[in-house]
Amino acid sequence: MNAATATFRLGALTFSVVSDGTIAMPVSMFFKTLVEDRSAGQPEEGAASAARPASRSRRMEDVPPAVWQAEVPDLEPDGYADGSMNCILVRSDGKLVLIDTGLGTKPSTRAALNSLPGRDAGTLLRNLAALGVRPEGIDMVVLTHAHADHIGWCTVEHDGQFVPTFTRATYWLLRADWEFFAAPHRLAKYPVLRENLEPLRERVVLADCETAVTPNVLLWPSPGHTLGHACVALHAGGHYAMHIGDVVHHPVEFERPEWLAEVDYDGRQTIASRHRVAEWALAHDALLIAAHTPFPGTGRLRRQRWGLTWDEAEKGEPGRAP
Ligand SMILES: [Zn+2]
Repeated sequence: MNAATATFRLGALTFSVVSDGTIAMPVSMFFKTLVEDRSAGQPEEGAASAARPASRSRRMEDVPPAVWQAEVPDLEPDGYADGSMNCILVRSDGKLVLIDTGLGTKPSTRAALNSLPGRDAGTLLRNLAALGVRPEGIDMVVLTHAHADHIGWCTVEHDGQFVPTFTRATYWLLRADWEFFAAPHRLAKYPVLRENLEPLRERVVLADCETAVTPNVLLWPSPGHTLGHACVALHAGGHYAMHIGDVVHHPVEFERPEWLAEVDYDGRQTIASRHRVAEWALAHDALLIAAHTPFPGTGRLRRQRWGLTWDEAEKGEPGRAP
């Protein structure tokens, strides 16, 4: 298989979307609306689940298939949507920054995924190598959030121990996600969290608000999908791009921001974050990169008379390192 990398210019900055392969997302997980959410925004200390928001005090209702299928006729209610796992490599200020780490290859991580790993899942390191980048070359890893399909390559198993894959890197994420997913009772219960987060304890840089990782890379809180979900904005010379993580799983969720997925932890915050991202993107004419939109996941939002549309944007150039 050819390496899945796509390189873009952003003013004086270049960055590459680097794939960790694909997942098959069950369509039945999408197209819900929030009926009631009594625990919105509460960290739920003591709650048992890291992965099952359905256990919370909230009620979601299916959008009737006839309604959503009018907008996304390519999806079947009991089928799967092809998702990519789009990570980004950017060189800024002399540093190599990796945004998200995909699903990786560990059994615990794959078992915790809400979707099915594609046969090509776990290709991030190979694709980085195709760009001439070795794990020890990465200076900073920035995580949009701590779900299994974004933290899978944070660590690797070495002599029976899990150790940071990116041996020199600091790992950046929002404090709210770290405190939720790396809470002692969750680490004890979930191997996926224990194996991928615990070994980072000495390396994490926890942000509470908008935080510059480098002069061109900005961690940009966008809570909802998880309590500490963040986008990552790239900017150089008046040009803008943003990795939007899982603010949407499918671009139709920008057009219909009230259509939530089961895995969106806080529905109201998810909707608010979608609006904020859309406003920012329109104001900055930003190239957006969604984590799970088919590789390389790029799009631009346009405002039409009837609402927003997602235009698939330029696809980048293969095989050039930033
Ligand atoms: Zn995801």
